[in-house]
Amino acid sequence: MPDTPLIPVAKPWIGEAEADAARRPILAGWVTQGPEVAAFENEFAAYVGSRYACAVSNCTAALHLALRAVGVVSGDEVITVSHSFIATANSIAYCGAVPVFVDIDANTFNIDPNRIEAAISPRTSAILCVHQMGMPCDMEALLKIAQVHGLPLIEDAACAIGSEVRYDGRWERIGRPHGQIACFSFHPRKIVTTGDGGMITTSDPELDRRVRLWRQHSMSISDTVRHQATRVTFEAYPELGFNYRMTDIQAAVGREQLKRLPEIIERRRDLAARYSRLLAELRNIIPPPEPCFARTNWQSYCIRTERTQQACIMQHMLEHGIATRRAIMCSHREVAYGTPDSWRCGSPGCLKVNGSCEHLRNSEYAQDCGIILPLFHEMTYAEQDRVVECLREAVDRPENMPAALVCARSSTDHLTSA
Ligand SMILES: *Cc1c(COP(=O)(O)O)cnc(C)c1O
Repeated sequence: MPDTPLIPVAKPWIGEAEADAARRPILAGWVTQGPEVAAFENEFAAYVGSRYACAVSNCTAALHLALRAVGVVSGDEVITVSHSFIATANSIAYCGAVPVFVDIDANTFNIDPNRIEAAISPRTSAILCVHQMGMPCDMEALLKIAQVHGLPLIEDAACAIGSEVRYDGRWERIGRPHGQIACFSFHPRKIVTTGDGGMITTSDPELDRRVRLWRQHSMSISDTVRHQATRVTFEAYPELGFNYRMTDIQAAVGREQLKRLPEIIERRRDLAARYSRLLAELRNIIPPPEPCFARTNWQSYCIRTERTQQACIMQHMLEHGIATRRAIMCSHREVAYGTPDSWRCGSPGCLKVNGSCEHLRNSEYAQDCGIILPLFHEMTYAEQDRVVECLREAVDRPENMPAALVCARSSTDHLTSA
């Protein structure tokens, strides 16, 4: 191992301001879903430009409530991508519905709007798109399809805080929202964090009312209202609810993180542009493109290489003190979605073979060929240069590659264990 310190793949920018903020609710004595959560919701809504924002315990909970709120029920189908963190598909399964996987666009790694209509069936009740790694989907194209077929559009914006999309000739932040509901994550792997946490934004008062009720056991009178009441009141539970609350301690931290957000995005865009310039001359490495309708926050910077090189390059970099991650997973290749009825392919008449699917070729390619490089707010140019140099060594001199790894791993090898 080298004596130079390890460069992590990601690291939250968090410190004294957040530590101080966390003292507020602790010393005030109101520690869950109280005034700090309400203030965080208002500030978040103002930032993304939405009418409502409802804080919850994490983005997976947000997606579950969002799908339920637009009416997804047991036996329904929801059109989405396999190429996403597994929580996307899981949120559909929580509703008793079946995820219908549509392939991604090979450039943006987001749902390919041209493949959606073929996937629509009489049981389709929603479209769940993912702004993967912060890169906005083509919202104009998606909304056109959703409107023609009368389907609600939910946005998995877990990674996309601060990303912008060109819509109606203007740049707008993800989360306005453009579909019916957008869901955000504050997990430490995203660009701002509350430890864990999520946010649901919408412009529809009825959708906001539903998710707000369900996040706290469907309690008809909230703690805050009861606390302030001058007359004795008894709450009721009109329907099934959940405990998906955010704490005031998390919200206090989140309010400080929001203040840092503009600086975080500026720095990430600067580092990403610098990566793309430096990587342009490397053999067999393709930097991630940004489509003309999108301004990403670069939650992840994912290069593309050859299938046979992915693990070797990652191992070489690890041995030189640089952490990387394999690109986004494919849910359809996981054992959790290994049974024939746990998902459906969006291409009619598809015969799934061995967990693999010929219609999800771009998704599988993205998983097998992508490498996420280190990118975090406090990363220095010197650290970035080290990453690029190490990558150059790996692709220029294959003899540097660790001999222990079989570098000609075939793209389907990993399926034999499933
Ligand atoms: C992180 C992530 C989630 C889950 O977010 P949590 O807050 O950890 O529940 C869902 N979808 C995508 C695309 C993600 O990246």
